Amino acid sequence: MKIINQHYINSHFVKSNGNEVEDLINPTTKKLIGRVTLGNEKDVQTAIAAAKEAFKLFSKTTIEERSNMLQRLHDAIMDKAEILAQASVEEYGSPASASYGRTVFAAKTFLFTKEALQEFEFERSMGKTKVIMEPLGVIGAITPWNANYTHICGKIAPAIATGCTIVVKPSEISALQTKLLMECINEANIPAGVINIVNGSGAVVGAEMTRHPDIAKISFTGSTNVGKLISKGAVDTLKRLALELGGKSPNIILEDANFNEAIPMAVSIGFSNTGQACHAGTRLIVPENRLEEVKKLIKEAVKSMKLGNPVEEDTILGPLVSQKQFDTVQRYIKIAIDEGAELVTGGLGHPEGFEDGYFVKPTVFANVTNDMTIAREEIFGPVLSIITYKTEEQAIEIANDTIYGLAAYVSSSNLEKAKNIASKIVAGRVLINKGVHDDPYAPFGGFKQSGIGRDSGIYGLEEHVEPKAILSYKE
Ligand code: NDP
Repeated sequence: MKIINQHYINSHFVKSNGNEVEDLINPTTKKLIGRVTLGNEKDVQTAIAAAKEAFKLFSKTTIEERSNMLQRLHDAIMDKAEILAQASVEEYGSPASASYGRTVFAAKTFLFTKEALQEFEFERSMGKTKVIMEPLGVIGAITPWNANYTHICGKIAPAIATGCTIVVKPSEISALQTKLLMECINEANIPAGVINIVNGSGAVVGAEMTRHPDIAKISFTGSTNVGKLISKGAVDTLKRLALELGGKSPNIILEDANFNEAIPMAVSIGFSNTGQACHAGTRLIVPENRLEEVKKLIKEAVKSMKLGNPVEEDTILGPLVSQKQFDTVQRYIKIAIDEGAELVTGGLGHPEGFEDGYFVKPTVFANVTNDMTIAREEIFGPVLSIITYKTEEQAIEIANDTIYGLAAYVSSSNLEKAKNIASKIVAGRVLINKGVHDDPYAPFGGFKQSGIGRDSGIYGLEEHVEPKAILSYKE
């Protein structure tokens, strides 16, 4: 059993001041695999003080120096990529088939950001005025458990690139993964105090970061409800906010799409990361007259996805991360049945033979209307809702009838038509005839209650700087 009782502050592994301890459970077996000591306010205050001090010199570093640091962070993570990937299989239940690729993607974030940095204009001219894009200061990053490395690296990279320092509070149920990442960061030899990581609960460590006057900006990824709490907590110090929140993303299949490709892809999009993905396309919007064909293709697609032990290379669907997540998904399946949705496949309970872990049955409902609970609320598990439309206008209306606006998907054999539909969807990203978010330079973030601000590439860098205008700079 692994004991995690240290934070990473000022380039040192320091013992936690907190005395609250949380168990770390392997979701595949429900066995205890570790314990993490949660930090308290004092721990995070020490980390913020270190980051504030480090900012004085770090904000003055050159683009070349910071590019080299981004490269070193990438290299240090790549050196341990196998071990990191294994930890996410053990602690999070992420299928091995996806874990390594996701870890490499997290490492590559530093290289993509390094490229964006070469193009970023820190000095701009507006008539006679010079505009200098200054680093914001200390960034407070708060991240969720789904794709721990992706989220932490995605927060650290733009901070380093722009000359900001950072304090990260990851999800405490990812503590084994975070510990390994801290070791990689330590290997990268970044100046003391620039990157700090404090384990702890959102209610204690996260809340202290949110209200602390020396944090310039909270960069948060997580649920919409917690995003709202953070917004309220940050108001007294008027902190800048970047909020990457939840979604209920629509996937519109147009009449002319190749259904033999589009429907299996729709299942992959809906069940991405065992449904624990913010951008999962969980509302499948299909032509009414093709419903029976869709149901048949869905059943075949779900059957072909192997659910199993995440260590096995051919497993696509693993367990959910925790008992809490398992219970949430069960609750939504029950609500859907009670509200009259038609079960196409899956349902309540564990899949047969998988009673020992937090496994759920991949579940698809038909005859869902957009006012049903499962069509409106984020479930964060492998539960897909099929909603039918009569006209394309109605499909767009259904797609946009949501409080969220993170991602959307359109399938059609006519690219121009798909582009036209994409232009009418209210979402931060629309993917045409594909389900993989593989463009690292494209901005990522949400409209409406899916968030504020954008991650990735130049857009991610813009989030970490503040324009200072010097008037009469030129004659
Ligand atoms: P939560 O919102 O529950 O938690 C996210 C982080 O916020 C955790 O570190 C949590 O700590 C912390 N937190 C909780 N309460 C507070 C508080 N009062 N003040 C400050 N911090 C707090 O999300 P989950 O971890 O359950 O992750 C799933 C959610 O994340 C889904 O809604 C999903 O859509 C969203 N998400 C969004 C993405 C995007 O890019 N838009 C990407 C990935 C996920 P603790 O661990 O103690 O609860």
